Amino acid sequence: MTIQCKAAVLRTIGAPRPYAQSKPLSIEEVVLAPPRSGELLVRIAGAGLCHSDLSVVNGDRPRPVPLALGHEGSGEVVEVGAAIDDVRAGDHVVFQFSASCGRCRRCVEGRPQVCERAAVAKSRGELMAGGSRITSINGERIGHHSGLSCMSEYVVVDRGSVVVVDRSVPLADAALFGCAVMTGVGAVINTARIRPGDTVAIVGLGGVGLSGVLGARLAGAGTIIAIDREPAKLEVAASVGATHMVCARDADCVEQVRDLTGGGVDYAFDLAGSADSMALAYATVRYGGTVVVCGLPEAAATFSINQNDLVGQEKTIRGSYQGSCVPVRDIPRFIRLYQEGRLPVNRLIDGHIGFDQVNAGFDKLQDVKAIRQILTPHGG
Ligand SMILES: [Zn+2]
Ligand SMILES: [Zn+2]
Repeated sequence: MTIQCKAAVLRTIGAPRPYAQSKPLSIEEVVLAPPRSGELLVRIAGAGLCHSDLSVVNGDRPRPVPLALGHEGSGEVVEVGAAIDDVRAGDHVVFQFSASCGRCRRCVEGRPQVCERAAVAKSRGELMAGGSRITSINGERIGHHSGLSCMSEYVVVDRGSVVVVDRSVPLADAALFGCAVMTGVGAVINTARIRPGDTVAIVGLGGVGLSGVLGARLAGAGTIIAIDREPAKLEVAASVGATHMVCARDADCVEQVRDLTGGGVDYAFDLAGSADSMALAYATVRYGGTVVVCGLPEAAATFSINQNDLVGQEKTIRGSYQGSCVPVRDIPRFIRLYQEGRLPVNRLIDGHIGFDQVNAGFDKLQDVKAIRQILTPHGG
């Protein structure tokens, strides 16, 4: 069916602060075309406000506008398009922000997070079958964010963008598993394959970074050093399992990490996504150590390394996208660990907000006054 519903549409990139006043996100009625073959209509339960959304809003990582925002979400399937026989109306789903086609070389290699077809569609603001399913009520095309656009009452998405989840999980809060948890926990468990006793530094303590701390604790890391510029975030990291806290504003912060670990950590994670945080992560690893880079910096950012240092110290640098997760395997297992109390990701949620608080919500995120606010488009 065709649906008319409310959505948060980004029309201005790089609007002045505060966003509560400039309102870069316009809360407006949009029209959704019916799902095509291989697509689903989903009623949104929750959509997280993530730093990657903020990077589009503030222009660090611009996308073509108008763009219906939102890449971390959950909901209930309302309608199933043709050629889908493994998802039904009423199923609860969490979105993966990078869809997988299941057929390209990367997908069949077991790396759906870097699906070739999804990457092309995503860059155009389209679904994999081509085109957008979202228009304004005047018929203007509006792009999909990450094949999703879940800051909306409803969305039409590819089958390869959803993972069916256990119905007993609070659905709005399950949104978090779609980005923060997959990226942060996945980086530690899948990309780095942390072993019990390993020493770890996590640079950048937003929703993804704190998920990384939770993941490191789950994996049995011996020393978990949380690093950030904001003392308030260091306190949160301590409360979710970091063993040591280092303020990135300290001139000797690298030395502090070296002193704590006898020369540097086995694995450092850049979860902040800037040249500075990357340099800091690189400096904290020991000889033979590994840097895992998961934060997405501004589009043109580059990072320089001393080549002698890389070779002579035999360091490794690895990228990690969507936590190197196979979402259909990892989202359900992370949810089970959450249900068992071993991955308390609910500690990262500040609260639920309505559409009227979305612009101000991004101010809070930019001002480090919130970790994860969840938009509940239908209230509750
Ligand atoms: Zn693929
Ligand atoms: Zn995100």
